[in-house]
This record gives sequence, C-alpha cells and structure tokens, in this order.
Amino acid sequence: MPKLVTLVLAPRQAADAKFYTSLAARRMGIREDEIALVRVVKRSIDARQRQVKVNLSLEVYVDREPQPAPVHFDYPSVEGRTEVVIVGSGPAGLFAALRLIELGLRPVILERGRDVSARKRDIAQINRNGAVDPDSNYAFGEGGAGTFSDGKLFTRSKKRGDYNKALQTLVFHGATPEILFESHPHIGTDKLPRIMQNIRQTILDAGGLFRFESRVTDLILADGRIRGVCCGGERIEGAAVVLATGHSARDIYELLHRRGVRLEAKPFAMGVRIEHPQALIDSIQYHCETRGEYLPAASYSLVSQENGRGVYSFCMCPGGFIVPAMTDAAQSVVNGMSPSGRTSPYANSGLVTEVRLGDFEPLRAEWGELAGLKFQQQFEELARREGGEHQIAPAQRVADFVAGRASGSLPRTSYIPGIIPSRLDRWMPDFIARSLRQGLTTFGRRMRGYVTNEAVVVGVESRTSTPVRIPRDPATLMHPGIEGLFPAGEGAGYAGGIISAALDGERVAEKIKEFIR
Ligand SMILES: Cc1cc2nc3c(=O)[nH]c(=O)nc-3n(C[C@H](O)[C@H](O)[C@H](O)COP(=O)(O)OP(=O)(O)OC[C@H]3O[C@@H](n4cnc5c(N)ncnc54)[C@H](O)[C@@H]3O)c2cc1C
Repeated sequence: MPKLVTLVLAPRQAADAKFYTSLAARRMGIREDEIALVRVVKRSIDARQRQVKVNLSLEVYVDREPQPAPVHFDYPSVEGRTEVVIVGSGPAGLFAALRLIELGLRPVILERGRDVSARKRDIAQINRNGAVDPDSNYAFGEGGAGTFSDGKLFTRSKKRGDYNKALQTLVFHGATPEILFESHPHIGTDKLPRIMQNIRQTILDAGGLFRFESRVTDLILADGRIRGVCCGGERIEGAAVVLATGHSARDIYELLHRRGVRLEAKPFAMGVRIEHPQALIDSIQYHCETRGEYLPAASYSLVSQENGRGVYSFCMCPGGFIVPAMTDAAQSVVNGMSPSGRTSPYANSGLVTEVRLGDFEPLRAEWGELAGLKFQQQFEELARREGGEHQIAPAQRVADFVAGRASGSLPRTSYIPGIIPSRLDRWMPDFIARSLRQGLTTFGRRMRGYVTNEAVVVGVESRTSTPVRIPRDPATLMHPGIEGLFPAGEGAGYAGGIISAALDGERVAEKIKEFIR
C-alpha cells in the first residue's frame, strides 16, 4: 500500500521531484533509496497569502511498484450489433459512443462539421477574412465546441458520473497524465484535436460508424416514437437516437419546435469577454511584480449578486486568446481558448449576468419556448452591427465601460480579427450593461487593479449555456413525449462544460442499454 504524504512547498520546491522525494522520505522516517516510486496525486496552488504555496499530495511506494497509471480501456467489437444513432460528436456524443461500445451497442455518429484537420482550415478562414462556414467553425465539427478551447476539465457536477474515469479516458486517448492530479486540470487547444482524433479511431476500431458533413435536418417520428433521422435526403435508422447537438444548433431547436417536440425556455447568461494583460492578473493574484518560472499563468473566478442578479466570470482562459465563436457571419460571438502552456501574454474571461425568463417575455408571444434563443440571437446581431466587417468585434476599455465613457483608442488584444471602439455600455440591453458595471465595481474591490483601462471588454459572450431545455424523464432520460429520443449534453440543458457533457453522454448510453434490453 502506498503511503500518502502531504507537503506545503514553495513553487520552486514543488517543481523539483528530487527535493520533494527526499522531504517525503524524511517525513516517513526512511532512507530515500528505500522509495520505489513517488506519484503526485493532487497539486493545487494556494495564493491567499503574500507567499504563494503549492499543496502537493504524494503517494509514496516503498516496497512494490504501483499499478500502472493511466488505466487501460478495452473496447469490444460491436460490429453487427444493435445500432444507436448519435447526432453530434461533441463530448456528450463521443462519450455516449464509447460507453455504448462498452455496453455492446454500435454507435452511428452523424456530425454536421468536418474532421479536426479540415476544421482547423475553416477556423483559420474566420480569423483571416471573417468567412464563417455554418457547419464547420469554433462550435461545430469533430469534437464539438471544446476542441479549440482551453480544455478546462473542472466540473461542479462530479456526482453525475465517474469523473475519474472520464479523465482516465482522456489520458488513454492522449491527454497528459497531469490532468489526473491537478486541482484545476486543463488540456489546451494544441493537444485537444489529437485526442478527439484518437477517440474517433477507438470508435472506428470497435466497429462504430462516424460520418462527417452529415447535418441532421429531420427526425423520423411515428406513433410517439423516433425511428431515426434524416440527413441530406437519406434516412438513418436506429434503435434509439441521442441528440447531442450542443447549444449553438439553433436549427435543431427550430426543427424540434416545428415537429411539435416539447421544449422549455430556460434562464441563461450573457455579457462580454474581458481581457487583461496576463502579467497584471499574475501580479494581482500572486502579489508580485513578475510571477517567475515556477508558477503557471494565474487565473481567477469571480461571482457576485448585484441587486439580486448574479454576475460572474465564466470560462477564464489564462495565457489565452479571444476567439470568434459565431456560427453565422451575421453574428458577433466571442469565447476563449488557451494553448496547453498558457503562454499568451493575455488573460481573458467571460463576464456575464443572468438572463431570466422575464427578460425576454415580450418575445414569447411570437416565438414561444424559443423566445430566449431569439433574444440571444438579437444580442449577437446587434453586436455584429456595432462591430465591423470580417468579424471585427466591438470593444471598450474596462474603466471607461464602468464610468460610462467612450474609449478613444483600445489596448492591444489577442483577438485576431481585431476590435473597434464602441459604446457597449449604451447599446447592450440596459439590465446587462448595468449588472456588468456593478459587478465590475465589486470585482475591482476584490482584485485591486482589475478595473483598469489596460483591460478591455469585447462583445459579446452570449453562448454560455442553452436558452432552451429539451425535457427528459428523470428516470429514463428519454424525452417524455418521444420514445427512443435521448437528449444529451449542453444543448439539451444537462451540462455546462466538456466534462459534464461527457458524463451526461455516458449516463444516457447506460439508459439506452436499459431501454433496448
Ligand atoms: C471556444 C470555446 C471554449 C470553451 N472552453 C471550454 C473549457 O475550457 N472547458 C469546458 O469545460 N468547456 C468549454 N467550452 C464549452 C464546451 O465546449 C461545451 O460545454 C461542450 O463541448 C458541450 O458538449 P456537447 O457534446 O454537449 O456539445 P458540443 O460540444 O457543442 O457538440 C455538439 C456537436 O453537434 C454537432 N451538431 C450540431 N447540430 C447538428 C446537426 N443538425 N447534425 C449533426 N451534427 C450536429 C456540432 O457540430 C457539434 O460537433 C468551450 C466552448 C467554446 C466554444
């Protein structure tokens, strides 16, 4: 049995395996050469005090070698087995497929976008000349919305499934084993595409099917049951259908609405992306002039209530880039991503406020349960008009935004299409601008220097979560009105990130197994 040793170290010491191994030996009262292996099982940074510390939990093996880590997965052949149609190859769709294979069912994945290699070229076009392919962009294509992201793997919904297994699955498919012990693991946009390709290969090797450029345009419904889907004039049938299309697939919500499939409007959140120099965030968070080589780019997480409305930072990307995440050229939508090393000189984060059902009530008469979706779309189109050609985004310096002043010029940004000065404080819906301004004032008190004209707010961060839920029976996870239809992941309203979507996909696969039995 390994012995668990917990150490509190300076960042330099925590990066020195020889140092902490020798310290662990002393703590255990043994000689260093008696140790067979030391494995880091948890690492977190404590920056609450002036002197930043690293908490390191070690498993120390004295007498025998540990079990190999990461875990090895065996995926049996599912050739000729009962087929399940999965619409969407994001984390929900991919993890549903892997679990179905483990359970002896054959996944047939239909993905509207392209494979990651082709998708990289489509994304380059958005950055270069603003051309947005509506089927292949930052939201759509192999691996889903998180393929070109920071790849943060932290989730608050660990109880909804086997979190460790999800991380092990990613390591098995090429993620670095550090994600197994970091307190806030992330993968990085340079490494995610390869992992998605490896998952695809696992699915194909097991006999699953994977079809790109296959946008689902209709459902085959009969007698309260789904038989399959329509895709480019072709009918694709299966014993069940997993709908894992993400929160940007507006055409899917419209299709469901048209076909009389029950949907529910839900609250969501919208706002802006805020970008600071990373060095400024480091100096605030680590209480230092420069962070030095042993600490990672600092992050933050902020939340407050302003007049009863939540305002919070969202999907913070230290050492990252703001990216154009629209699915249509008529919208301005921004999001963030970081490379694995988080090496860019910028720190960006979503900064959003709650959007409640009452905020889009006037649109309900015309759009019913899709009212929130239309409100979100109007916000994005407004931002597009306030920005410029080729996805140039509207922006305002942060202190100017808070003070209600125009910004005559803007600081440098990581956003490749570029930013243009704009009065975000004036044209955004009043409740959003007011909440963000109040929230920023609060955050500026908690993080001295956060509200500064060195930082910029960029419009708009609108795709935080879906404004529409596709209901499910809590016991069967099936749509209550359509037998065999399993809504999954973020688009259905049951996940808010890569890992929660993956766990939801697994749960749905397990329920499908029970349904088909
Ligand atoms: C730029 C960016 C950065 C992000 N960073 C992070 C992060 O660091 N950490 C984190 O946890 N989350 C992050 N997210 C959010 C995360 O990506 C999503 O929560 C997650 O991908 C949701 O998974 P999903 O499988 O439910 O849906 P998605 O990943 O959205 O996948 C849905 C898939 O369905 C496909 N599809 C849609 N409609 C159709 C159709 N009609 N026919 C066929 N296929 C269709 C799409 O092309 C897409 O591939 C980020 C998102 C973006 C855009």
